[in-house]
Amino acid sequence: MNNFNEITKLLEKNNSFLITSHKNIDGDAIGSELALYFILKKLNKKPIILNQDRLPRIYNFLPDSDKVHCLEDNYINIKNIDVGIIVDCSNFERIEETYKIFKNIKNIINIDHHNSNENYGDLNYIDSGASSVGEIIYDLIKFINLDLLDEKISTCLYTAIITDTGSFRYSNVSSKTFSVVSDLASQGIKPNLIADNIYNRNTYSGLKLLGKALLTLEVDKSNYVSWLTITRDMLNNTEANDEEVEGIIDIARTLENTEVSILFRETKDNKIKVSFRSKGDFNVNEFAGKFNGGGHPNSSGCVCSGKITEVKEKILSELFKISKYNKKQ
Ligand code: 5GP
Ligand code: MN
Repeated sequence: MNNFNEITKLLEKNNSFLITSHKNIDGDAIGSELALYFILKKLNKKPIILNQDRLPRIYNFLPDSDKVHCLEDNYINIKNIDVGIIVDCSNFERIEETYKIFKNIKNIINIDHHNSNENYGDLNYIDSGASSVGEIIYDLIKFINLDLLDEKISTCLYTAIITDTGSFRYSNVSSKTFSVVSDLASQGIKPNLIADNIYNRNTYSGLKLLGKALLTLEVDKSNYVSWLTITRDMLNNTEANDEEVEGIIDIARTLENTEVSILFRETKDNKIKVSFRSKGDFNVNEFAGKFNGGGHPNSSGCVCSGKITEVKEKILSELFKISKYNKKQ
């Protein structure tokens, strides 16, 4: 692994930067991208943020959120990029369509907190003990010059941290997380307003979808595993969009005695997106790996082909074979 010194030198030596993250960008990805964007601006560099997917509506309160471009916008001003920075992405291909651009960039910096990171960058900084990439970007800023930290950057990093820790509820939270957040808070951020923007802006159709999704709840005999299903019909009937699926799995996770929750969802492109969440030491990153997916020990996902009923059957029967599962029955 490389260190912050090597990364800082590469930042200082170059001028133009293209920043991206994974498909289905989340709060950690966006907050980290924008924090990097602001830092590079302060260093008189030219950063551009370009993701495969559009910024989810709930993040448009972030400062300069209009600088978060997506491929669909045909953002054409991408020429002569010196350095590509990829955050929160365990393997290079997960940036999906932007890969076509990034594979031609000479220097790639890979900054991540996934244990399974494939070190695909020219420089790699992977800290799987960090709650979020946001926490790592804070460390990088501290290394460069902590005076660079301001309210805007702190708002982005705080957003990265609360979204990836489920508002400090997940096992990735450490005392370090709280000390970083305390520093961010001292920059004048408004934690209540940030939380309000992220968690209290459900749409009517989003809540209808949640209602329909909860009616699909199934459990095994001890509630150890709980699972929900979202079909295209449910999305069409409620007029909810795919963005509004975010967070629904977390409700299944609240069921007493549930250790593993799963959400099966039909995607626009006729695939089945499966999300896994766990509470204790059931490693859903390893489990998702059986289906070419990945993520973190308590939060992971994969994408499967086939009918939703077949995918459910395949994944659940695999899960029920696991000895850890059987010991709990
Ligand atoms: P979500 O279920 O919310 O989409 O993702 C949860 C976690 O699993 C995130 O860290 C995400 O990056 C990771 N993840 C989701 N789907 C995939 C996948 O298909 N492949 C890999 N490698 N990671 C995934
Ligand atoms: Mn993350």
